[in-house]
Amino acid sequence: MGFADKFVASLQSSNLRDDAFHHDLDAIAAAAMAGDLGSLLCRVKYADGTINKLFEGNSGNLAQLLRIWTARVVQKGRERKWVNERAAWDAQAAQALYRRVAERSLAYWLDGKCNTCNGTGTANRMICQSCKGSGRGEIGGGGFEREKALDMVSELEGLVQSHSARASRRLADF
Ligand SMILES: [Zn+2]
Repeated sequence: MGFADKFVASLQSSNLRDDAFHHDLDAIAAAAMAGDLGSLLCRVKYADGTINKLFEGNSGNLAQLLRIWTARVVQKGRERKWVNERAAWDAQAAQALYRRVAERSLAYWLDGKCNTCNGTGTANRMICQSCKGSGRGEIGGGGFEREKALDMVSELEGLVQSHSARASRRLADF
């Protein structure tokens, strides 16, 4: 099976938790490195204005993005040694952690609005008490996991910023 076939197969595989997990994610991660994850992120977040539309009309894009992002989070988590994966049980727990961190950080980055004020920062003409006026919601989760998810939100911001910087440099060359 060639690389492109493997990549397509991995996007279609319904259960990434099986034995195929590592193998699948390797192919996706390689593709994400080769391609431009920043550009995909920009498309997903800003393409049609609202995230709601995206969930309704384009859930395929989102599922694909989540898989690519999960692969990236697994890679970061291993590089930064979030958990010791030597024992089989640890490896399983680690995969579950990577997935939760990936899902949580992506959801928060896409639409992390405060539920009380719906992102406006004000409620009843006063500063919103829940978010103290920031308009941002809580990312959720506790301690270690929350900290890692917030790290990954910064990572997403960084990817988009470097993509925008590259895109504007390209424009400046004309
Ligand atoms: Zn609020």
